Amino acid sequence: MSAFDVDLFVIGGGSGGVRAARIAAGYGARVMLAEEYRVGGTCVIRGCVPKKLMVYAGRFADEFEDAAGFGWTVEKPRFDWSTLKRRRDAEVTRLEGIYDANLLRAGVEIMPERAVIEDRNTVRLLKSGRMIRAERILVAVGAHPVKEPAVPGIDLAITSNEVFELESLPERILVIGGGYIAVEFASVFAALGSRTTLLHRGDKLLRGFDDEIRDALAEAYGQRMDLRLGRTLRRIERQDGGLCAQLDDGTYIRVDQVLVATGRRPNVDGLGLDRVGIDTDAAGAIPVDAYSQTTIPSIYAVGDVTNRANLTPVAIREGHAFADTVYGGKPSCVDHRLIPTAVFSTPEIGVVGHNEAAARAIYGKIDVYKARFRPMKATLSGRDERILMKVLVDCASDRVVGVHIFGHDAGEVIQAVGIAVTMGATKADFDRTIAVHPTAAEELVTMRVPEVTKHPVGVG
Ligand code: NDP
Repeated sequence: MSAFDVDLFVIGGGSGGVRAARIAAGYGARVMLAEEYRVGGTCVIRGCVPKKLMVYAGRFADEFEDAAGFGWTVEKPRFDWSTLKRRRDAEVTRLEGIYDANLLRAGVEIMPERAVIEDRNTVRLLKSGRMIRAERILVAVGAHPVKEPAVPGIDLAITSNEVFELESLPERILVIGGGYIAVEFASVFAALGSRTTLLHRGDKLLRGFDDEIRDALAEAYGQRMDLRLGRTLRRIERQDGGLCAQLDDGTYIRVDQVLVATGRRPNVDGLGLDRVGIDTDAAGAIPVDAYSQTTIPSIYAVGDVTNRANLTPVAIREGHAFADTVYGGKPSCVDHRLIPTAVFSTPEIGVVGHNEAAARAIYGKIDVYKARFRPMKATLSGRDERILMKVLVDCASDRVVGVHIFGHDAGEVIQAVGIAVTMGATKADFDRTIAVHPTAAEELVTMRVPEVTKHPVGVG
């Protein structure tokens, strides 16, 4: 008889943990998984999924407006928050049920309570007090939103967790931050009809993205909301039944809600890492090797708690690779270098590969192909909007090393382009691909002349 109760104990039922548990069980491992909140994790319960449903909701506003240019008469549309909330929450619950069912079908035992590490092979369940001996432990506990900056009154703000619990659409909202979450929610609220202010300390939104995409986003957001760049929050106070935020320039913004989206931090507090001697890094994340193994051989970690690339599909890949490696006899690790990603702003952003500055720094000589144009739909709708596409090519190899899209459906387009770029497509491959006409995406294969190249001094 085995000295262990289970082969694998997974702490955390989010994207990474669920995938790892299911695949490991499929290979015949005896798997137990603990989740203290709801199976599905951030992505399904209070992240990607409900957020995207809200993005869809917001985008109808543009559709109603644009319809007029095509001959439609749309009576003044009305939006009902409680209908959206009820239907969105029901969908999340449905998906949660599917996650549960999939785990059970795979033979995974689910413990609906908090689990902590007791020693290298033991997990303690806090509610039931049970101790489970496991040959291996996988930590997949994710991260949580922070409430920063630590200024007076910051506790009056909500985070991306509470935003899904709001019972009514705020008439006025201040969103703080310039990352994915702030950018996405600011456009959702603006589209749904909230008077929205987006406040960011930097001079451009979305650090790490291509500068021209960031400029295009700022231009579009400037038309859709009150965008305040290069400003910081000094304090928040309750006032007249609402909230009053004071900025560093002395100005005040009166709102009904403040949503703070200034980053997320790994959920390591009280997890028991100190009991086994696992030190976290400067960001509070668990360091792991390419196979997601920690410094303790029986303990692995995947997903946001490792702070590698904090994206659902990456966590899923890491969980799957872990199970393949440890239980499937197929050592696999995840290539974190080339990750297509989308920001569900309106307009949307899709990216694969390097931004222009990084590509120049890495490859020296690059050609930049660029298209900036009015979408066809805007010719009749009259909407003042531009699409921007950039294709970056390493001159030495002709390989496409970055594609950046700002415009409708950029997320859908970049997923397909990502296949080509991952395969190592060259500009010549793009050129011999026949265009799909009339689409916006055809620009990607019809760009013939690079911008006048500004090679850095001393290169080439
Ligand atoms: P990000 O790390 O992306 O952005 C945090 C933002 O907050 C930055 O603009 C940062 O500014 C700013 N900030 C940080 N600290 C402070 C502070 N003390 N005061 C003022 N501003 C501050 O975090 P998010 O919360 O937006 O998202 C978390 C993660 O979730 C991301 O890493 C992303 O991977 C993931 N995510 C992905 C989505 C998608 O794929 N579509 C959607 C939502 C989330 P600065 O740039 O100056 O540092």
